[in-house]
Amino acid sequence: MILDLIDCYDPRLKTPTEPFDFSNPPVNPLDLVTDLAETMLANNGIGLSANQCGLPYRVFVMHGAELIPCFNPRIVDVSDETIYLEEGCLSFPDLFVKVKRPRKIKVRFADPNGNVQTQVYDGITARVFQHELDHLDGIDYRQRANRYHLNQAKKSKLKKGKLSQQSQEVIQRIRTM
Ligand SMILES: [Zn+2]
Repeated sequence: MILDLIDCYDPRLKTPTEPFDFSNPPVNPLDLVTDLAETMLANNGIGLSANQCGLPYRVFVMHGAELIPCFNPRIVDVSDETIYLEEGCLSFPDLFVKVKRPRKIKVRFADPNGNVQTQVYDGITARVFQHELDHLDGIDYRQRANRYHLNQAKKSKLKKGKLSQQSQEVIQRIRTM
């Protein structure tokens, strides 16, 4: 089922989500990630957190080489190396902002059966994971950007088509999260 995305001013987007309790699941975890995945794909996104759809659960889905559902995700280690990438967001259409974050992360999360796994992600996948995890903590990418890049993003939003070739290529890959 394709869910509705909540408005970017909706307070649920700023409210940290509660851990998903596999011993007493509030909803069927497989149904939940199926709905989130369908909603993400229908909106051409590469990541979507439950609270972007108004659901208070600590889970997101992301789409890299494969579809990855992440319950109760957390970052256990980050690289010293950071990179700037231009991020977009399904909750803030057309706002693409350069954000600096660690390039590589080591993470832990549960699959829909509640089995916890550890993974190391790099590049775009690492970026989507960090962006979505922020959503679950009630944080959006504008808060991670510096004022200069946020102003640049707002200006480029006003002057559509003025994005650099390089930015357009990044957007092609990052699309929306
Ligand atoms: Zn987002």
